[in-house]
Amino acid sequence: MNRRTIYAAILNLLMTASALFSLSGCAPVHMNIGQNSAPQNVVNTGEMTVTFIDVGQGDSAFIELPGGKTILIDAGVSDSADKIYSVISSKGYKKIDIVVATHPHADHIGAMKDIISWFEIGDIYMPRVSTNTKTYEKLLEEIASQGLKIKTAKAGVTICEGVDMIAPVSDEYEDLNDYSAVIRIVNGNNVFLFMGDAETESENEIMNAGYDVRADVIKVGHHGSSTSSGKKFVSSVGAKYAVFSLGEGNSYNHPHKSVVDRWEASGARILRTDKQGDIIFISDGTDINVKCEKQEGE
Ligand SMILES: [Zn+2]
Repeated sequence: MNRRTIYAAILNLLMTASALFSLSGCAPVHMNIGQNSAPQNVVNTGEMTVTFIDVGQGDSAFIELPGGKTILIDAGVSDSADKIYSVISSKGYKKIDIVVATHPHADHIGAMKDIISWFEIGDIYMPRVSTNTKTYEKLLEEIASQGLKIKTAKAGVTICEGVDMIAPVSDEYEDLNDYSAVIRIVNGNNVFLFMGDAETESENEIMNAGYDVRADVIKVGHHGSSTSSGKKFVSSVGAKYAVFSLGEGNSYNHPHKSVVDRWEASGARILRTDKQGDIIFISDGTDINVKCEKQEGE
């Protein structure tokens, strides 16, 4: 057995039977709640805060839901552990209710082992795919040592009221990025979309599956790479704010200019963690306000 096969076996052991059960026959929910249409059932109305943490070339977003629950979507690169810790603990939290590893690349799970060991964790979600890196191995070991079970991240899964996964739609992809959990959060009339590193293949699947992708705020897929943010997808989202999570001077040349131009042309205000630092949105269910750590580039 090679390393990846071993980790896949460990992942299977850590995934709960109940999560598997919940996948069968699970239909997409909250399909028609968009910011431009009257919501069918208003969910979660109250103040919600979304903090895009500047973790350099990686992703990490901390969400405080109206009911008081918290979600961490991704945990940057390994040396961003202290930064993520200070953002969450300075708000007074000792527990994170839900942790999502969108996919097992080091720029999304780099600091997750530390975060899981430092905070009390409720549920942890990961897509059903493994990789063969030390970072991934250490994360699985930490999850196992904490006695946590991994719930499967997949389209159709409802994490809690107003928080749904709309990808990955398929079971298998060539590219690890397309396994990314894509999360849609609805607070009253405000909609947030977190793309992970999902690429155009996943974007097309999400639209073909009939999910409502309209959103006020989108965490742009794959750090603004041109392998994500397809034309049809960008125009379908119709975002007011497009957030790019990336490091200054990164070796991938993210964000790609064509992608920034595309979101801008669709009417979105561009916000970038490499220029603005931490980016904080406050949604009250009707209006969305944004505060940035740095004003550069605005
Ligand atoms: Zn990434």
